[in-house]
Amino acid sequence: MVNLKPRLYGWGFLILLTMSTLKEHQKFMRMAIRLSEKNVADAKGGPFGAVIVKAGKLIAKSANKVTLTNDPTAHAEVSAIRLACKKLQTFDLSGCVIYTSCEPCPMCLGAIYWARLDTIYYANTKTDAAAIGFDDQFIYEELELKMEQRKLPIIQLMRNEALPAFKQWELSPMKIDY
Ligand SMILES: [Zn+2]
Repeated sequence: MVNLKPRLYGWGFLILLTMSTLKEHQKFMRMAIRLSEKNVADAKGGPFGAVIVKAGKLIAKSANKVTLTNDPTAHAEVSAIRLACKKLQTFDLSGCVIYTSCEPCPMCLGAIYWARLDTIYYANTKTDAAAIGFDDQFIYEELELKMEQRKLPIIQLMRNEALPAFKQWELSPMKIDY
């Protein structure tokens, strides 16, 4: 005979757990969205916000700071990663997750991979961003093309002179792997 009671209790517990997790996700995503709204209201930059969280604890948050700091790399996600790494004194954010008010652009996506964040939660899509003038689709398209077909000229020079640094790294006993 199958004992249903413990199984039902188990499912109920799982649903409760999932709901509380969802509530936590929503709390942090709302924080990212509020940052994006405040950035526009304060005329400080683009409508983007990002929040980095570790084990349910807020580690860092940032809005987009491109025009404020004249830094084209100061997207919300990259800025939040910089703050989180500074706070945790590490270049490795594994164990952390990022909530971003918009699907990351290729630069931020790359930065998120480099920082080894566990999960990306996003709200607006890149199509929503393109509709208000933030179109990064061309970068995705460029990446698909062969180097010589891209809009941005990319020209190789002096590999022979550059390679010894790689050899030096390979052999260095002082290197910090990352
Ligand atoms: Zn970005």
